[in-house]
Amino acid sequence: MVKAAADDRVAVLLPLPLAGAFDYAGGGLAIAPGDFVRVPLSGREVVGVVWPRAAGKAVAPARLKAVRARLDLPPLSLDMLRFIDWVAAYTLTPPGAVLKMVMSAPAAFDPLPVRRAYVRGGPPPARLTAERARLLEMLLDDRPRSVSELCRLAYVGEGVVRGLIEAGTLMAVDVPADAPYDPPDPLRPAPALSADQQAAVDGIAKNGDGFAPALLEGVTGSGKTEVYFELIARLLKKDSSAQALVLLPEIALTSQWLGRFRDRFGASPVLWHSDVGEAERRRAWRAVTEGKARLVVGARSALFLPYRNLQLIVVDEEHDQAFKQEEGVIYQGRDMAVVRAHLGRFPIILASATPSLETVHNVNTGKYRAFLLPDRHGAAELPDIRAIDMRRAPPPRGAFISPPLRDAMAATVAAGEQALLFLNRRGYAPLTLCRACGHRLECPHCSAWMVEHRYAGRLECHHCGHLMPLLDECPSCAATGEMTAIGPGVERVAEEVAELLPEARLLVLSSDQATSAARFASMIDDIESHRVDVVIGTQIVTKGYHFPKLTLVGVVDADLGLTGGDLRAAERTYQQLSQVAGRAGRESLKGSVLVQTYMPEHPVMAALVKGDKAAFVAAELAERQTQGMPPFGRLAAVIVSGEEAEAVIRMARRLGMAAPHGNGVSVLGPAPAPLALLRGRHRWRLLLKATRGADVQQTLRAWLARAGGVKGVRVQVDVDPYGFL
Ligand code: ADP
Ligand code: ZN
Repeated sequence: MVKAAADDRVAVLLPLPLAGAFDYAGGGLAIAPGDFVRVPLSGREVVGVVWPRAAGKAVAPARLKAVRARLDLPPLSLDMLRFIDWVAAYTLTPPGAVLKMVMSAPAAFDPLPVRRAYVRGGPPPARLTAERARLLEMLLDDRPRSVSELCRLAYVGEGVVRGLIEAGTLMAVDVPADAPYDPPDPLRPAPALSADQQAAVDGIAKNGDGFAPALLEGVTGSGKTEVYFELIARLLKKDSSAQALVLLPEIALTSQWLGRFRDRFGASPVLWHSDVGEAERRRAWRAVTEGKARLVVGARSALFLPYRNLQLIVVDEEHDQAFKQEEGVIYQGRDMAVVRAHLGRFPIILASATPSLETVHNVNTGKYRAFLLPDRHGAAELPDIRAIDMRRAPPPRGAFISPPLRDAMAATVAAGEQALLFLNRRGYAPLTLCRACGHRLECPHCSAWMVEHRYAGRLECHHCGHLMPLLDECPSCAATGEMTAIGPGVERVAEEVAELLPEARLLVLSSDQATSAARFASMIDDIESHRVDVVIGTQIVTKGYHFPKLTLVGVVDADLGLTGGDLRAAERTYQQLSQVAGRAGRESLKGSVLVQTYMPEHPVMAALVKGDKAAFVAAELAERQTQGMPPFGRLAAVIVSGEEAEAVIRMARRLGMAAPHGNGVSVLGPAPAPLALLRGRHRWRLLLKATRGADVQQTLRAWLARAGGVKGVRVQVDVDPYGFL
């Protein structure tokens, strides 16, 4: 073994939640920061990444273990190393936990699987039959092919191929089993852009190829996708090694969207999201790190792929909260995408019909440039939005559809058009109670009601997945036949529609129905092809679809998102309802939207009806400014959880006692979380509020260190929280 010299020391970051990089002896290997290496760790071997060395305490050279091997993989770029450190510091997570997200294709580090193929080897055989000649002709391009491929392409039987292998004319080689991706073609014909689209393309392009965040704002259907497709095409044309990334909320990664992408670039993008299987992950990960994947489309996790030469990011539906990851490393994907673009010094485009207030604020303060697409592309008009005051036009007892919405639906279906009823609630009813004693069915592991799923014939907890059979007898007072469903879910609304419009063809569409991508695609196809008259759906149907015959959208309960009253309740409701409304009348047919609400005077409803987004945004921003809330102030949540309530309370109190104050910082809490029990864990929360200029991370670190710990209790930090449960 090579004895480690003092300067042979390397730091290696492991994909584990450890405090930092570990020192190893270089073992005489030529290695540099970013290289993937295999190192020993308590009796096993793990793959890590060589990290820039930080000054500090050093382990005595004699005790250093040596790096075993350098993997034959391109190194992570220095931008990527900086990005990992940045995200770790910002979110207060160990850098190794962030690296783990980068190394999220474990199979990519194993020897790549190969398949047996054949190329030209020795001289042609003496006896040259017509079949053999055909086969030899096939081989002239020197592309390795499998036996079955050769048979298929040369129209010969397997015996002919085997014969030439034995004769030594064909030589066996091992080629990677993973096929390369088809390259996108940026030169394919594109639609002629409208003047507004062209202005947006030119304006964004004029920002240059350095860091330049641009907001691309336009209602659904205004042509934003075509604008960023064009910018991607320009990049690919200009720089033959550049890579581009489009981030979408997971749910928007649909076959419709991908079909458009293929039309534009003549190839599928490299896809990355939670459902991509292990073999495909390996293939994609390797192609990204080798720079062969030019165009990646994915959910937020795609941001952490090891790009060779990333030069452009697009975040579509940038306002969508699906970009926030709430578990493990808690981060906001859109914000981290901006950081990535900053570190890599390249442009980023944030696209939305209803930009987040954070982004609007960045435009207002001159940090981002904004480009507006004011009209719907072509003839499509914006739908007409009306509020139905449920106090004046209440539905019949026990029903949820008001007379005006019922009549509009009947007229729509009679006219041969489609209606969508939107209710963001899965199942049949959100609450079941006993009429005799008032007992409510609650999850034993969470502070949450059990939700009735009548199609599946059971009750489900939407937080932990706990299941119960449907009950006829009250578990509390044993009365029978008294259990009653309270409130609607999509299944219950569908039941009501079936009674109102017995002839209409209905489709309930929520994640319960869309159990696989294929099933989901076939249901979307049923809507597109007009095999369905009325769709009753959750947010799963609101993202990015074109349904040509859909002219009526009914929002069953517009107030749903406003209850609970978290910081972004109004903003989110406005965004969601605008998006739902955008489904109506996307082509030549004019659409209308009916919004059922008990609060028609609420600013969200008023703005929706008037189509006055600017006024709503301005009022909401003013409100946030007065309260010092984001985007003007900053928040960080501290969540304390554990199996024993008493220990959790003790830890929460310690944090309360050690809480920082002054210098623009204050702490609310500790208080039991609204979800005081989740998956059997008790939860308390504290909320740190700070001015924009405060060093939130430094404050949090010092605070957590002061508070110490309590055995069995977990303390999680959520910087820039979006959920307040
Ligand atoms: P958005 O992304 O803003 O929702 P899209 O880019 O999806 O809008 O455009 C809406 C519809 O208009 C799509 O069907 C798209 O193919 C079409 N479209 C957009 N721009 C053009 C154009 N310049 N020429 C022809 N069709 C276009
Ligand atoms: Zn539960």
